[in-house]
Amino acid sequence: MRPFAYQRVADQDAALAAAASGGARYLGGGTNLVDLMRQNIEAPQALVDVSRLPAEIIELPDGGLRIGAAVRNSALAAHPTVRARYPMLSRALLAGASAQIRNMATVGGNILQRTRCAYFYDAAGSRCNKREQHAGCDAIGGFNRYHAILGASPHCIATHPSDMCVALAALDATVHLAGNGGARSVPLTDFHRLPGETPEIETVLHPGELITAIELTPGPAAARSTYRKVRDRSSYAFALISVAAGVDVVDGKIRDIRIALGGVAAKPWRARQAEKMLLGEAPTPDRFRAAADAELAAASTFDGNAFKVELAKRTIVAVLAQLTGADA
Ligand SMILES: Cc1cc2nc3c(=O)[nH]c(=O)nc-3n(C[C@H](O)[C@H](O)[C@H](O)COP(=O)(O)OP(=O)(O)OC[C@H]3O[C@@H](n4cnc5c(N)ncnc54)[C@H](O)[C@@H]3O)c2cc1C
Ligand code: SF4
Repeated sequence: MRPFAYQRVADQDAALAAAASGGARYLGGGTNLVDLMRQNIEAPQALVDVSRLPAEIIELPDGGLRIGAAVRNSALAAHPTVRARYPMLSRALLAGASAQIRNMATVGGNILQRTRCAYFYDAAGSRCNKREQHAGCDAIGGFNRYHAILGASPHCIATHPSDMCVALAALDATVHLAGNGGARSVPLTDFHRLPGETPEIETVLHPGELITAIELTPGPAAARSTYRKVRDRSSYAFALISVAAGVDVVDGKIRDIRIALGGVAAKPWRARQAEKMLLGEAPTPDRFRAAADAELAAASTFDGNAFKVELAKRTIVAVLAQLTGADA
């Protein structure tokens, strides 16, 4: 690990000022960034510790929530309003990592955690376009069981590893940002980028910008929701496939539906095609399957991850059946 400066800040203005110098990075719980620094994959000159910024979960007049970026994953998962009105978010958080890591990890850091592609972490022996521009991608033609089936490019097939972000995508969460040029907001679904020709650019964040909060709006589909994660081990493993979904059924017809997939792309994948096919229809397993088929029609696979297409379809159908009471 290379030497670096460390500064803990108490408010947003101090954070932005401290990060204005080039080469600085924000530090949340450090559960991802410090590992990357230890392996010399990331080498910031300075760490600006934002883990002690206000960690509040504020209930908004419309029943929504504004969640500070420094809120720990475990605190968010346990919050009574999250459990009651946004159960998919609580379940997604609890499906991630371990209790110890969730106690350290912050909301801001979770959104910005980096891929778990093994070649990305193998700085000494593997080619990786995300680590080094134009180096090549050893996952293509290598071990790609965990890799993307949607939205990938010939330059990178990595997936985004966050469970929390899959639920945030389904919930239409908003990410609030602050920078020296002012504040702005971005829908979570637009925050992460697909790799294209520049897999090293993973988000729409500007240099020095700070995630300050995320915001959720309530609704029946958010309240009637769940998260299912399929993985190689029943705990402490990243998703092969995950599904966050919420459904509101009125008079036998789907009035609102939210579906997002994890483990399939470089960003949490909002399944808009499937949602469109199901909106206004009666909830039946055949319709769920047709919608899942349509969503996955554009999937592109390798030998190692071809199984994920059918797994994603079956998980979508099973989750929607569970939420609506339809027999799968
Ligand atoms: C063994 C292990 C297993 C895991 N399993 C899972 C799993 O199953 N599912 C899952 O979802 N995750 C899993 N994780 C990942 C874990 O969720 C992340 O490491 C964690 O959420 C990162 O949060 P952090 O606060 O520690 O981020 P940090 O490591 O502190 O930071 C991560 C990134 O976010 C940036 N950052 C932090 N806060 C801000 C901010 N406010 N504004 C702008 N930038 C910011 C940092 O600069 C850095 O680039 C696992 C991690 C480990 C080590
Ligand atoms: S999939 Fe992406 S992160 Fe993994 S080796 Fe290829 S370029 Fe690197």
